[in-house]
Amino acid sequence: MAMPAARKMTSLESIYLVELFKGLALTMGHVVKNLFDQNRFVTIEYPDVRKTMAERYRGAHRLLLRPDGKVKCVACMCCPTICPAKCITIIAGEAPDDPAEKFPVEFDIDMLRCIFCGFCVEACPKDAIRMDTRIYEVNAYTRQALIHNKTYMVNLMDGIKPPAEEFYRLNPESAPAGFVSSPSASGAP
Ligand code: SF4
Ligand code: SF4
Repeated sequence: MAMPAARKMTSLESIYLVELFKGLALTMGHVVKNLFDQNRFVTIEYPDVRKTMAERYRGAHRLLLRPDGKVKCVACMCCPTICPAKCITIIAGEAPDDPAEKFPVEFDIDMLRCIFCGFCVEACPKDAIRMDTRIYEVNAYTRQALIHNKTYMVNLMDGIKPPAEEFYRLNPESAPAGFVSSPSASGAP
């Protein structure tokens, strides 16, 4: 297919000066509009202001507790089996009060390898693991600190991560169901 011929510039356009001022006027128009209407900003003043993530945004994992304070996880190994990044490590143990039941003695997720696919959440038959925290600040100074363990994931919403708590306090409409800003029961088996 033949390409359309390039439009020939007018003599006024060919000296670029008028076009230059047109561009500047456009930019200054946006600057002035933004000064009077901050809702037009596409940037936010992070970390003082935090982005409200979409309802289905997958944040850092948390482990849920039963009403008796034990972790819901029964160490069935569905999540480490389905995890495509092979970043979940669970060491199972027998529950002291019920030998028929297991619980995770250790439950680690290597966040350096996690691809946030959410398969672990989908695979869990006990609704024991969720990625509804909307915590996107998964960072640390050491690699070891990026291996989230059971205690960390159980307590994630209970003040160990103040930014998340602050975020939910300021954005209660985004808080996961059951979230309370004060520390709650977190005793794992
Ligand atoms: S989100 Fe995906 S990659 Fe990350 S731990 Fe779960 S299954 Fe593995
Ligand atoms: S979190 Fe769910 S899927 Fe993973 S081992 Fe525990 S019960 Fe099984």
